[in-house]
Amino acid sequence: MVESSVNDKIANMNYIGQKTPKEAADFLIKHDIVDHADFGKITDMELINDWSAALFDSIQKYPKLRESMRFTGAMQSQVDMAVKSLADDLVDYYKSNGYSEREAIKIAMKEAIESAPKADGMAWTWNPRGSNGEYYNAGGIAFNESREGICSNYIKEEIESGFWAKAKKDVSYIINHEIGHQLDHLLNLQSDTEIVSLYKHLKTNNKIINGVSGYANTDIEEFIAECWAEFKGSKNPRKYAKFVGERIIERYNEIN
Ligand SMILES: [Zn+2]
Repeated sequence: MVESSVNDKIANMNYIGQKTPKEAADFLIKHDIVDHADFGKITDMELINDWSAALFDSIQKYPKLRESMRFTGAMQSQVDMAVKSLADDLVDYYKSNGYSEREAIKIAMKEAIESAPKADGMAWTWNPRGSNGEYYNAGGIAFNESREGICSNYIKEEIESGFWAKAKKDVSYIINHEIGHQLDHLLNLQSDTEIVSLYKHLKTNNKIINGVSGYANTDIEEFIAECWAEFKGSKNPRKYAKFVGERIIERYNEIN
């Protein structure tokens, strides 16, 4: 009884706009949306609040994605965090293989830094895994802090040109697109017969670019993510986004 009343309370809650990056990060952690949040050098509170609100909504509605959403914020902070976790792992490994602590730390740090990706693009979903297959604490959707200044114009242009699906023109688009990929991985949507047959039909008849977006025409993965971005981010999603969006919800509900 106690547990379900707590869940009800959480499920009914909305993200509340925060005044500082730190407050937004703390809000997400406090409400169990992520384990770690760090917006790094990002200072635009409109961006941070739009981003956080979209993530908050997605994780509350689809809590089975929570496991891979350990972190959100700046990808630069995410990479730093992952490097530390990987280095810790590697230090243990080298010590158990006869290296001194000092030597082990030196080799481990070098290897961890070299294996980490370099911040690139506007945003990404990164789920680094350790040697045991467990997610590192840094897995999740992150934003490139060095793109903060160009972000809102960029999103506006991509959506208006039709390269991105029709959705609200702010960073919620990015979150929803990335959540679309996560739902695809969780539910193996690329093998869903209904989605696959719609995709093949539209592809054969050259209907994806106008019916969804230019990006959706890349492959079935991007098709699914773009349909989800429009389904979640538009007040009036068009028919293909609506079909795929509703199918995804149906599939998600089957695993509950
Ligand atoms: Zn994508």
